[in-house]
Amino acid sequence: MKIAVDGPAGAGKSTIARLLAKHLGLRYLDTGAMYRAITLEALRREVDTGDEEALMKVATSVDLNIVFQGDKGNLIYLNGEDVTNSIREPEVTAHVSAVSSHKKLRDFIVALQEQIAKQGSVVMDGRDIGTVVMPDADWKFFLQATVEERARRRQSELERRGVSLDAGELREQIRRRDHLDSTRENSPLRKADDAIEVDTTSLSVAEVVQKLLDLIKGDDEDVHVCGNNS
Ligand code: C5P
Repeated sequence: MKIAVDGPAGAGKSTIARLLAKHLGLRYLDTGAMYRAITLEALRREVDTGDEEALMKVATSVDLNIVFQGDKGNLIYLNGEDVTNSIREPEVTAHVSAVSSHKKLRDFIVALQEQIAKQGSVVMDGRDIGTVVMPDADWKFFLQATVEERARRRQSELERRGVSLDAGELREQIRRRDHLDSTRENSPLRKADDAIEVDTTSLSVAEVVQKLLDLIKGDDEDVHVCGNNS
């Protein structure tokens, strides 16, 4: 079974997709982590994020290793170093949309994601999973939430890691990233025509996971989208 979970920054994709994978016994891939790892290495090498060729040199010369950790999600190794936490730093977040906008880089990373999809059942979360990476997914979900709620979630997540950022500033960052991700020329953030949109604004993580499981198991009568979903 292949499940695509797309949506804007902070809509809860990674947490929901990871738990969904756990409940269904599937592998989980956080595709944003791949773009983040390349961005981290580009920043370390002081590469201009507008220079596609230089970014391709970074992408093709690093050893990027993703370890599937069961229900704990993915561990990300860059040249042997565990960067699972470093790739979430605000500096990486601020530059990742610029890095991920380049076509050659996307083609390179999407090819890796397609290989993982070919290896068997998987839940992937990202921006273009239902539209580009797994257009044949059995289930496509598009998670939404208001900007205010997404900023609040990002703030709590950062606070847990000891980073304090103003809510207004976070809202602006999220708006900026949404804008860059959804207006870029190459595979922009977009809901696939046959994806089921779920507004998570007033739902808990457990409620969203249950809703998706109900849809998959056919227990939810409130489904209006067919597409590839059986
Ligand atoms: O999901 P996350 O917030 O970690 O993604 C970081 C960034 O990576 C996004 O803002 C987007 O620019 C890029 N991304 C992408 N396509 C994906 C996943 C992430 O362009 N499939």
